[in-house]
Amino acid sequence: MRIGIYGGSFNPIHKGHTQLAASIVAQGLVDELWLLVSPLNPLKSGEVSNIAEYEHRLKMAELATEGIEGVNVSDFERHLPLPSYTINTLGELQKAYPEHEFVLVIGADNWERFPRWYHADEIIEKYHILIYRRPGCELDETALPASVQVVDTPLYDVSSTKIRESVKKGRMMRRWLDEKVARYIKRHHLYL
Ligand code: ATP
Repeated sequence: MRIGIYGGSFNPIHKGHTQLAASIVAQGLVDELWLLVSPLNPLKSGEVSNIAEYEHRLKMAELATEGIEGVNVSDFERHLPLPSYTINTLGELQKAYPEHEFVLVIGADNWERFPRWYHADEIIEKYHILIYRRPGCELDETALPASVQVVDTPLYDVSSTKIRESVKKGRMMRRWLDEKVARYIKRHHLYL
């Protein structure tokens, strides 16, 4: 099977994430999409002060994707050495599941920073990459490597950072959260 790998801290997971995941599968771009909850993003470790424990982020991702066909949550990176660089994760996935083809799914925001990723050239050489658009990120589609494809998905102007900030101020932004996730955040007093 062709498996899309969609990684992030999902701190917390929101409708921008889930609608995107559902759309990639619905368009038949992959057979399944695995949402990989990362223990720590090497480029973000200094920026995010309010990071919920791994168990919480994983659980919220499971709650939010329940019932979305073809979208699965994976804790694969939890068992890998830190920092969890994408090239290592993809290599380990390929070793663990030689029967599958793994495709990297990233946002245009990440594509802008992609040259800074650890072993970026090797990722491009070995794997297909699907790039989805993000508001405010221009993509120069004339200069993309052959292994890279730009895909159209719904755009939602929301981020986990905005959600964490609003929860802190006592507002839950329920419009952008799965109802079960909103309840989970409240019950476990996250992001206060
Ligand atoms: P933060 O605000 O904490 O940086 P985030 O909302 O950007 O978080 P991440 O956990 O970093 O979420 O997201 C993982 C991936 O999801 C990122 O690569 C990012 O491109 C993508 N993403 C984030 N927000 C959206 C959105 N609204 N629509 C589609 N994709 C999104």
